[in-house]
Amino acid sequence: MANRPPDLSPQERKAAGEKAVASRRERAEIKAALTSGEIGIFEAINDGRQSIQRMRVSELLDAAPGIGPRRAFTIMSKAGISDTRRIAGLGKHQLQRLRGEMILNKVPVNQGALIVMSGPGGVGKSTITAHLRNHPAVWVSTSVTTREPRENERDGRDYHFITDEKFDQLIANNEFLEWAEFAGARYGTLKGAVESARNLGKHVLLEIEIAGARQIRRAEPQALLVFISPPSWEDLVERLTSRGTDSVERRAARLALAEEEMACAGEFDEVLINHQVEEVALALLSLATSRANRLS
Ligand code: 5GP
Repeated sequence: MANRPPDLSPQERKAAGEKAVASRRERAEIKAALTSGEIGIFEAINDGRQSIQRMRVSELLDAAPGIGPRRAFTIMSKAGISDTRRIAGLGKHQLQRLRGEMILNKVPVNQGALIVMSGPGGVGKSTITAHLRNHPAVWVSTSVTTREPRENERDGRDYHFITDEKFDQLIANNEFLEWAEFAGARYGTLKGAVESARNLGKHVLLEIEIAGARQIRRAEPQALLVFISPPSWEDLVERLTSRGTDSVERRAARLALAEEEMACAGEFDEVLINHQVEEVALALLSLATSRANRLS
């Protein structure tokens, strides 16, 4: 019979019971954090834990200070969100409308932090980025570039690969938050996409080179600039020289550039040493969370 509950062993039943208790505790904690103003609604929505994702949106709004069930109902219906909708089922447009309605109702909404990650070539920035890409609280910006795609790179995921003419047009239309030239190609971060993601409470991660990081410092003084450093210079040399089939000249150029980049570490707010990718990813996330809390 399809609907019969599965027969559970006593151990399985015990484990299921414990899981349910843990879920209830997590939900109670997030609601208390919302009520006390410790976190904002979008921070709760971006909490990837299953227990939170399964909560009804209405339950979350009810817990937020100064909303109350009547206003929660109005906000939800104006945002086109049904009363029974769970957090995991919210679409991007519903989230945008929810934000708009909350602003209209003078309910404070939190913005995600802007995190810039730079560091010398070969230090492992893209592995760190890959690690954070699927985190629900993080949005990794996809840059545009005029360089040719490498093998294994996908348009729209690794970069938006565009022509020089298109790049000029984006500059003329003032669509870049920053852009720079690096090793004969141009790279840039699109302003609009970053803004939309931050407005949904996501922490935006930019993996960019140093000239771009300096522009962000000027354009967005509240951004957090993080420099990723290798455990030692020897370690970086090892990583750079064991890479692929570079000529002697190319290898020397990469090392010289890495040396120049290492000398800029002092300009950054934080320096994280890449002993272990998972550790650096966690540290970045915790820096982003405390930066976002400071802003709101
Ligand atoms: P690659 O060609 O190896 O993918 O990237 C070369 C350098 O450009 C890396 O240091 C990378 O972080 C940087 N980069 C990638 N996207 C951007 C961007 O949008 N702006 C800036 N300023 N640098 C970028």
